[in-house]
Amino acid sequence: MPKLPSLVRPLVACSLLLIAPLASVAGVEPLQVGMAAADVTPPVGCRMSGYFSERFSTGVHNPLQAKAIVLRQGEVQFAWVFCDVIGVPAEVTAKARDAAAAATGIPRAHILVAGTHSHTGPLYFGALRDYFHQRAVERAGSDLHEAVDYAALLREKVVAAIVEAAADAQSTEVAAGAVEQPGLAFNRRYVMRNGTVQFNPGKLNPDIVRPSGPIDPQIGLVQFRREGRPVGGLTVFALHLDTTGGTELAADYPYFLERELRDRFGADYQSVFGVGTCGNVNHIDVTHDRPQVGHGEAERIGRELARTVAAASDSLPLLSRPSLAASSATVALPLQRYSPQEVAAARANLEKVGGRELPWLEQVSAVKIVNVANQPGETLAAEVQVFRLSDEAALVALPGEVFVELGLAIKQASPFATTLVVELAGDDPNYIPTRTAFAEGSYEPTNSLIEPGGGEMLVEAAVELLKLVAQKQ
Ligand SMILES: [Zn+2]
Repeated sequence: MPKLPSLVRPLVACSLLLIAPLASVAGVEPLQVGMAAADVTPPVGCRMSGYFSERFSTGVHNPLQAKAIVLRQGEVQFAWVFCDVIGVPAEVTAKARDAAAAATGIPRAHILVAGTHSHTGPLYFGALRDYFHQRAVERAGSDLHEAVDYAALLREKVVAAIVEAAADAQSTEVAAGAVEQPGLAFNRRYVMRNGTVQFNPGKLNPDIVRPSGPIDPQIGLVQFRREGRPVGGLTVFALHLDTTGGTELAADYPYFLERELRDRFGADYQSVFGVGTCGNVNHIDVTHDRPQVGHGEAERIGRELARTVAAASDSLPLLSRPSLAASSATVALPLQRYSPQEVAAARANLEKVGGRELPWLEQVSAVKIVNVANQPGETLAAEVQVFRLSDEAALVALPGEVFVELGLAIKQASPFATTLVVELAGDDPNYIPTRTAFAEGSYEPTNSLIEPGGGEMLVEAAVELLKLVAQKQ
């Protein structure tokens, strides 16, 4: 290399000094990514979530985990944590975010804590848990099915996973995109011959006319590579984690997704799963009568997803110019209102939950009304978080079990080519249906705490935030 004339050298140094601050603002600083997982499997014997009856775990089929990803670029840092539980209530996520922010310096607003919605994990919050717990204490003097304070355990493990992932952060290339996954997801609400809409009306039901809504066939992918080799990634798909049932603790199909991806990419591959907006989407195909429940079904789905993810991996584009940015907003969603008499009647009906005396939807309604009554105000503080990875890709996180139409509307209006939308982040206030679904009725609107229109408010907030972070350079 020819030696530069001495006169030129200061100019080069000077121009570098000028460019450096611009470069960091323009987002060409290298990305660092760290990953970690903490075991959050509760003791066997714990009360299990997922359904409207009391059941206790009898074993562990596969472990429940809290999996963390930390992304860092210069001064900007995010943490995303996905936990293999039905949901994570606001009191747990709030304290976990505060503690993780204090321990790592990652701003609280940049920390996402979500549940994957596994229906084979612990029941540890909400009106039904409170009722079962109090009943156990009244009957036996103590609740043998809560051997640990699971909310505290989960909170500590979430913080530990974020701290470990932050410490692991190292130079990493990030790829992102979306790929179609046919055949696994079905809208579970159907228009019936009599004009009503019914949730899961049963396989080969002759009264089914058509599904009442769409699915989201896209798998959203963010993949991390070091020296060209995939070392981990986030997979987002809108499909209820309710494929297993039974009394063995299990993470549902994401466990098998990870197992298969490790077969393909190596035993140290960290597969993180975030559940898409699947409030009205599950795996049940009503056009045949083959059983679709159990660990085998979870395995079938996990394998299929892994095949699609692995096939897409080679062509998944690296972010050409990563530029991390995040923003969030809290939307006050109006809660449904019930009179003191209605709340008292609902509380009295809790003892009939899981039995045959009270019709199932009335059981659902009783639990819901008590959950509404337990809310501190007349609105639900619903936080929407948006994370930009680059000009091409962003992730949106919403609380609750969000109807698929709402996630699709966000993707449609997003200024980003790839938008991943995850639900059950920050809080688990049950279902977030569309206005249309509230008018149609059936299970999910019955099990919603909010007034019609709340879901559309979340969409509006998410799209505004996406536009905001798209402009930030
Ligand atoms: Zn659900």
